[in-house]
Amino acid sequence: MASNACTSNMLKCVKRNLFSYFIQCCGHSRAQHSSVKSGRKQLIILGTGWSSYSVLKTIDKTIYDVIVVSPRNHFLFTPLLCSTTVGTLEFRSIIEPVRNSGFRQSAHFHLSRAVGLDTEEKTLVCESVLKQSLRYTLSYDKLVIGVGSLSNTFGVPGVSEHAFFLKEVADARRIRNRLLHNIELAVQPRIEESEANRLLHIVIVGGGPTGIEFGAEVYDFVEQDVARLYKQQKHKVFVTLIESNQILSSFDDRLRSFATKKIKERARFDLVQSSVVEVTEMSVKLKDGKVLPCGLVVWSTGLQPRDFTRSLHVATNNRGQIETDSYLRVKTSGDTTDVIPDVFAIGDCADIENQPLPTTAQVAEREGRYVAKFLNSNCSSDTKPFKFVSSGMMTYIGGYQALADTPEIKLQGFPSWVLWRSAYLTRLGSWRLRMQVPMDWMKTLVFGRDISRFE
Ligand SMILES: Cc1cc2nc3c(=O)[nH]c(=O)nc-3n(C[C@H](O)[C@H](O)[C@H](O)COP(=O)(O)OP(=O)(O)OC[C@H]3O[C@@H](n4cnc5c(N)ncnc54)[C@H](O)[C@@H]3O)c2cc1C
Repeated sequence: MASNACTSNMLKCVKRNLFSYFIQCCGHSRAQHSSVKSGRKQLIILGTGWSSYSVLKTIDKTIYDVIVVSPRNHFLFTPLLCSTTVGTLEFRSIIEPVRNSGFRQSAHFHLSRAVGLDTEEKTLVCESVLKQSLRYTLSYDKLVIGVGSLSNTFGVPGVSEHAFFLKEVADARRIRNRLLHNIELAVQPRIEESEANRLLHIVIVGGGPTGIEFGAEVYDFVEQDVARLYKQQKHKVFVTLIESNQILSSFDDRLRSFATKKIKERARFDLVQSSVVEVTEMSVKLKDGKVLPCGLVVWSTGLQPRDFTRSLHVATNNRGQIETDSYLRVKTSGDTTDVIPDVFAIGDCADIENQPLPTTAQVAEREGRYVAKFLNSNCSSDTKPFKFVSSGMMTYIGGYQALADTPEIKLQGFPSWVLWRSAYLTRLGSWRLRMQVPMDWMKTLVFGRDISRFE
């Protein structure tokens, strides 16, 4: 009897172990399973921004099973994001669903974020953004990290809680709602004059292209729509742009002076050279102690790494970006020239050793294309290192005026605005967007911006 019981227990144990091994194999790598079946190598791309989307569009899908993991299921055309904050463009006119890029299987796109990486085992831990308790592991043959970055608060108290950032469509939507909320509240009975003035005071922190373009869009909105629909409020809307150094510091001196002059000429627009030391629900405090009551603070002062980037055990620079060699392969931590096999990092989250580049869409897109071609060539030793040659920068400053700073020409004013619009129109990622954006521009010109408010 005892030996029978013992044998039966042993059998149960073996069965349990076999079962758990089977579960582990299936659960551990659904993706691994498919690559074994297809015979193709498995490429995982993290993110759906400029860099990753560029890999996705260029990669040869006959060589790789391409899996994308991102908390966002669309590509966002960031250069036109500011235009959506006031309704010059609609949100859906500047985003492209990534599933339109043609995945081999519907399960090859994961609406999840990467939360851990094991470069020895070549596995990635992911967490669903739809169900937080859902965590799983994917195996890769090649991995491309293009997770971008976050806005940098520089530890200034109150920024995370009270300021608005401008990186995603959801941010632009929040800003648009707050603007419309404040304007409507300012006209309601029993709202005192001082409170109305506070509500209609917009503070922009950061004089880089994003801060300037947001200011430009607000200026157009006030001149064209607030003036038409809220006649008594037009002269109450006030914008203060705070920059600790000079605005548009990466632009040519002459163009920068032109922009400064144009902005300073605007009646209800102030450029302040200072830094912010605290943001509260109703005000901004400057380093000289001055307090500016305001109803909206938009914060655009630089970048910091995401938690996932911080969690990696790889080489990083002093800004926390992942350090790569000139083939965009991630370097191992420590004082070596070694790289981690089959792991690439591109876009804002990365920096190339001895080739510091600006954190722009232009750089991110080219890096993505380079990595895809490198992978398509099976990382051929004939491939030349990545080299970036800038094709210039452009920014909109409002009132149908822009700046174009390219190696060939330096252009300002209305001709530059025409160039700015045409350049971005041709850069839009799909024919759908190329149709939708000019239609929005036309609608805004003819009927004005849509000021309907809904959460
Ligand atoms: C308002 C605005 C205007 C701009 N205008 C211009 C311009 O005119 N010209 C220009 O050259 N540049 C411009 N830029 C800068 C440009 O947008 C960035 O440099 C570019 O987006 C960087 O691309 P990226 O792929 O590195 O990151 P992003 O485009 O930010 O994409 C990062 C992706 O990673 C995903 N992700 C985040 N965390 C994880 C995770 N843990 N796991 C997986 N995925 C993750 C995100 O959801 C996102 O899809 C602008 C930026 C902004 C915000």
